[in-house]
Amino acid sequence: MSVSVTAGVDLGGTNLKVGLVAAGGSLVVQHSTPTDLSAGPAGLVARIGAAVRSLLDRVRADASPPRRLDDVRLVAAGIGSPGPLSPSRGIIYRCANLPGLEGAPLRQLLADELGVPAAIENDANVAAYGEAWTGAGRGVRDLVLLTLGTGIGCGAVLDGAILHGHFENATELGHMIVQRDGEPCPCGQRGCLERYASATAIARRVGEAIRAGERSVLADGGSRRAADVDAADVARGAQCGDALCLRIWREACDHLAIACVNIQHAYNPALVLLGGGMADAGSFLLDEVRSAFARQKWSLADDFPTIELATLGNNAGVIGAGRLAWDTRGG
Ligand SMILES: [Zn+2]
Repeated sequence: MSVSVTAGVDLGGTNLKVGLVAAGGSLVVQHSTPTDLSAGPAGLVARIGAAVRSLLDRVRADASPPRRLDDVRLVAAGIGSPGPLSPSRGIIYRCANLPGLEGAPLRQLLADELGVPAAIENDANVAAYGEAWTGAGRGVRDLVLLTLGTGIGCGAVLDGAILHGHFENATELGHMIVQRDGEPCPCGQRGCLERYASATAIARRVGEAIRAGERSVLADGGSRRAADVDAADVARGAQCGDALCLRIWREACDHLAIACVNIQHAYNPALVLLGGGMADAGSFLLDEVRSAFARQKWSLADDFPTIELATLGNNAGVIGAGRLAWDTRGG
């Protein structure tokens, strides 16, 4: 009996992850390697192709008895990438983290390399799609995922499909303005959500307060420099009752709750998922965001989304990209 799989590719600024994904959503095998853009788009796609072929070989060799070449069949490939990009045209417009890929027709290059249909999609959309397929949103047709990392990524799955919008750039909610005349953001706006509630933001804000002379366990004894503080330190400090860490953590959670209210009104999802590095704090994040959300007083309809943690972690991108690939087959 032959087995069909798709290739799911998670293209990040740091790591390139490639996996083989079965029709039911299981991640059969995967491989991660540092992203290397030194040979341009063609070199990148060649590396992806080599990784996919190596994974296929591994699956064939691990089968008992070993399968013939045509027994494990690659049927399509999907790739999730930072954007902005165009899923319909199959190209990356511009990406600060992936120099040299501007304008690259990544979808066509990948299809040519592997000899199967290919699709390209924004990385946060792909992660949301993965969560909706086999993760915390399994069986949910309307959900929004916020990934709290270096910035805040966001993807929405509505009526079971990824939301794109006219310019194919919908749900850039990391740049939703939550403070009028707030902190400047490199995007050009002020007061963006990710300036207050990303992992990078909370570490930066605690560091700035320590440099300004505020007391904190993270500054005690002079053994740590404020620049070394990371989001996990802030979470731990807050959980130990450190007043500065707790204040910054709660402000982040308040801003995330505001984002959840705005998401409720804009998209009306059943579920809002929180993922990314900050979600490693688990219930300490979830409980704070839920209680800040519950303090809002919307009363015109009983349409509150459930707020949960994402569950696929670093695999969400590969699994979602694998699903995207299955979609090119109509299934
Ligand atoms: Zn911004």
